[in-house]
Amino acid sequence: MEQVSIVKCDNYQQRQVYESLSKSIRLLGGMERFVKPGMRVLLKCNLLMRKKPEEAATTHPEVVAAAARLVKEAGGHPIIADSPGGLFTERALRGVYHACGMEEIAARDDIELNYNVEDIEVSHPQGRIVKSLTVIKAIEEVDAVINIAKLKTHGMALYTGAVKNLFGVIPGTAKAEYHLRMKKLEDFSDMLLDISTYVKPVLSIMDAIVGMEGQGPSAGDPRRIGAVLASTSPYHLDTVCVSLVGIEPDKVCTIRRAEKRGLGSNLEKIILAGDSLEELRIQDFKIPTHTHVGFIEQYFDEDSPIAQFINTRFGPRPVFNHEGCIGCRDCEKNCPPEAITMVNRKPVVDLKLCIRCYCCQELCPQKTVDIKRSWLFQLFR
Ligand code: SF4
Ligand code: SF4
Repeated sequence: MEQVSIVKCDNYQQRQVYESLSKSIRLLGGMERFVKPGMRVLLKCNLLMRKKPEEAATTHPEVVAAAARLVKEAGGHPIIADSPGGLFTERALRGVYHACGMEEIAARDDIELNYNVEDIEVSHPQGRIVKSLTVIKAIEEVDAVINIAKLKTHGMALYTGAVKNLFGVIPGTAKAEYHLRMKKLEDFSDMLLDISTYVKPVLSIMDAIVGMEGQGPSAGDPRRIGAVLASTSPYHLDTVCVSLVGIEPDKVCTIRRAEKRGLGSNLEKIILAGDSLEELRIQDFKIPTHTHVGFIEQYFDEDSPIAQFINTRFGPRPVFNHEGCIGCRDCEKNCPPEAITMVNRKPVVDLKLCIRCYCCQELCPQKTVDIKRSWLFQLFR
């Protein structure tokens, strides 16, 4: 049976975070169980985009600093890395590291930041839906990966945590191809599980001190949860994390699929260590109101004309608020099916092409992309 540790942590003060994370990992056997002297260890954080730590869209730098310190104490060499949305270039990485607070902790604590922007094609014969992957080369040049995710809601997937965080090993705009190839949520979730089984993090950590509720993963609201969690299994960690914020694990496709594939299991079969999940549970965590159209596919084939008609006319869709839009074109450049065109420097979407991946909402720096659904859709639902 897999173990997940959960430890209270009220704030991001350096000492408090270190003590809580240290306790959480000690409950799993200590960092020495995962990191041996001389190992190079990639800390795969969630650095989605240029966001300040207090906006709660990215892994908080103090959680990363605490993990790096524990790796060093075990004799390892930590390297902070991620491939954020948009272009995977050294310049883009510098901007993200600076905004997300990684540059500051790297200088303060002498931690290496990854600037290798090469990618590499790897084979993954055990993959269920993808047998080969294009990944950032940095991941191939280390001895171990520690996955450090942020607990957030997600427009398409409902929740994003440990498994989804590993999608960040796909370089920059190549992520769009994966969205295009795996349009159905079930397929996309299986692809995420394939990435996770390829990366095989030795340890997964969840920054749930302040998470994001509402319109996550970037346009939602920070919400204090007050815990750090850790596990050797990203699948079991996600099951506990969604339970912590009152989401039924079954409602999250990656968790459902992981259980079906024998990677995850239900909450009753997970050994919890540390503080009480019940006591820390948030009852009124706001989850997205517009989540994926999946239920229509329970009745009609997704590609059938009727399903397409219902989805196009009444289903959830991205809506662009032109008033707040600065015309940066990030949504247009990152739209997998190229459904967005700029008219007078404002985005206009062709809903017939839109695959409802919500990358435009995820990557809009101005939070001017909303996801709406009609009253008829809500009634139907
Ligand atoms: S318009 Fe937005 S939701 Fe639709 S396909 Fe493009 S990025 Fe995805
Ligand atoms: S990403 Fe946001 S701000 Fe930039 S063009 Fe699109 S809607 Fe406007």
